[in-house]
Amino acid sequence: MQTHYRTCNICEALCGIEITHEGENILSIKGDPKDPLSRGHICPKAVALQDFYFDEDRLRSPLKKTANGFEEISWEEAFDFTVNKIQEIQNKHGDNAVATFLGNPNAHNMGNLLFVRPFIKALRTKSRFSASTVDQMPHHVASLHMLGHSILNPVPDLDRTNYLLIMGGNPLVSNGSMMSAPDIPKRFRAIQERGGKIVVIDPRRTETARKADEHLFIKPETDVVLLLAMIHTIIKEDKIRLNHLADNVTGLEEIKTLAEKYTPELAEKITGIKAEKIKSLTLEMAAADKAVLYSRMGLSTQTFGGLCIWLTNVFNILNGNYDREGGMMFPSPAIDPISFSPKKGKPKYKSIPLSRVRKLPKYLGETPSASLAEEIETEGEGQIKALVCVAGNPVLSVPNGRRLEKAFEKLDFIVCSDIYLTETSKHADIIFPATSGLEISQYDITFLNLAIRNIAKYSPALFPKKGNVKHDWEILAELTARLKGEKNQGHSPEMFLNMALQMGKYAKDGLTLEKLKEHPHGIDLGPLTSCLKERLQTDDDTVRLIHPVFLEDLKRLDESLNTTASENDFSYQMIGRRVLRQHNTWTHNAHRLSKGRNECTVLINPTDADRLGVTSGEYILLKSRVGQIKVEAEVTDEIMEGVLSLPQGFGASKKSKMKIAAAQNSVSINDLTDDLRVDSLTGNAALNGVYVSVSKMAD
Ligand code: SF4
Repeated sequence: MQTHYRTCNICEALCGIEITHEGENILSIKGDPKDPLSRGHICPKAVALQDFYFDEDRLRSPLKKTANGFEEISWEEAFDFTVNKIQEIQNKHGDNAVATFLGNPNAHNMGNLLFVRPFIKALRTKSRFSASTVDQMPHHVASLHMLGHSILNPVPDLDRTNYLLIMGGNPLVSNGSMMSAPDIPKRFRAIQERGGKIVVIDPRRTETARKADEHLFIKPETDVVLLLAMIHTIIKEDKIRLNHLADNVTGLEEIKTLAEKYTPELAEKITGIKAEKIKSLTLEMAAADKAVLYSRMGLSTQTFGGLCIWLTNVFNILNGNYDREGGMMFPSPAIDPISFSPKKGKPKYKSIPLSRVRKLPKYLGETPSASLAEEIETEGEGQIKALVCVAGNPVLSVPNGRRLEKAFEKLDFIVCSDIYLTETSKHADIIFPATSGLEISQYDITFLNLAIRNIAKYSPALFPKKGNVKHDWEILAELTARLKGEKNQGHSPEMFLNMALQMGKYAKDGLTLEKLKEHPHGIDLGPLTSCLKERLQTDDDTVRLIHPVFLEDLKRLDESLNTTASENDFSYQMIGRRVLRQHNTWTHNAHRLSKGRNECTVLINPTDADRLGVTSGEYILLKSRVGQIKVEAEVTDEIMEGVLSLPQGFGASKKSKMKIAAAQNSVSINDLTDDLRVDSLTGNAALNGVYVSVSKMAD
């Protein structure tokens, strides 16, 4: 019997796990109590890591689409065919005719992160799409314009705060997002036990809200006005305290002027939260010694997502809780991605490039994923003719996925690297079968940059590759070499990892890959420390409260406040939700996660249900501008009147190979979300707040 320690790489939480096994026979998967970040916590998904490894539905050999369906081919043939097709298309239509789509698992996989950049460089394409423009671009845009770098993102110092206000986030289920924070239940209990307070503002009384001290309902997509009213209050009540950043903050007078008109009374009319409550909440936060406002998915995926995340930062700064213990802080990771970027003060952009068809902003070189379908459909120079999709399932994960699926018919070539035949990969001409979590070695480059404690941890692979599969990074390295007409050098992720560690902040303390291998539980590098002044990337070393892009977007907000909603035919607003036992679109085939009651239900308030004559368990028809679905109703007062909630990530059909997911009759929320609804400031999809109509199904 052997014991293996690693970090679960399904989600951002970075839980340490302890796996006991006899050869390939797994006896148990438990939380690792010695992991310095997760301290023994895991969620039900970790146990399913074995399901993905053993799953008979996994792809185990390269596949080529033929007139008779998919047929197994050799790796050599798959590589040859793919590179020839890509080169043929680029020669005919230009480099940008080949697009890439990177799914969320790339961020959780060291090999993918290290090898995907050289691959995209070898492709020479500017048609780059990813999950980042579906859920998080507002965070990057706020950081770029305020701090000078898009990946200098703050996280709440959960272990020391005494007041946590959460807007549009459900960390009890997610274990943090843009915040790697395993063991939320214990961390939240600790806040309450030290006399602190947790408040949640959300159109749904979420799992987190149920454990909080207070929950306030808010109308979807009105958070931006609430944030402005909170900033208005802190200014009016003379509670601004910049603390150690006093000499490093610019734009304070402009903030005071612009917030003047957004009173709590105005916010009450728009958000549904009483003006007195807005004032008392703000003053409570101002009075708390250590307080933090954390805004996440619900805010960054709405039509004013960029303004919401900017104002969240502004509020934390004005309240004296930025880069300070118990407030919003900045991790100091052993591998700092910022150190690999253009030098401090150098402009990251001369001007923000725009997408070809809709002229949406392209931050971080990413074309908004909500525009992928139109970039395929619209003729002209730069039209996309081929797609390379790595660990992504955009048919289920981008708004109006069915339009994208239809657009695929216009493509000359699709190649996917995936572990499953999915709603996206089933359209591919070539599929490269990739490895899953237990087959890879891992150092979490992305999320240790978002962790609420500084740690470093390396996990070797537990099992050898199962079947005729390759690691994504091996596939990318081979494609890169062939595209460049070079020999594959055979470099490993570990080689780059060791080099990066030696260039990092803790190299002077002897932090090397060898040392990490000696510490399988990970190495604790301590709590977050105040470090913003050293890490700021603005040319004048200031934190900019104001940037012209935000001022310009406020005009769009004002216009929308003066316009009556034109979507009245669709009288309900829909929001998404995350469920504990699934993660995005790819975990639905794990039998440990998919058994039990149907989780793909639409939450509807009892008053709305009465009006429609609907009871729990009945199927109802939801329609939006782009599509319609039939879904099981779940009547509950946890959702506010006029709002519906559907879970994200479901929708695998019987045509895919994922049998268990198909058995659930699940539907995709993105058959209703609208690709034309984006936050035009950041290009991010506006998944939340979509207007839908509801009707009872005929018996
Ligand atoms: S919260 Fe669950 S899925 Fe996420 S890292 Fe921890 S165990 Fe894995």
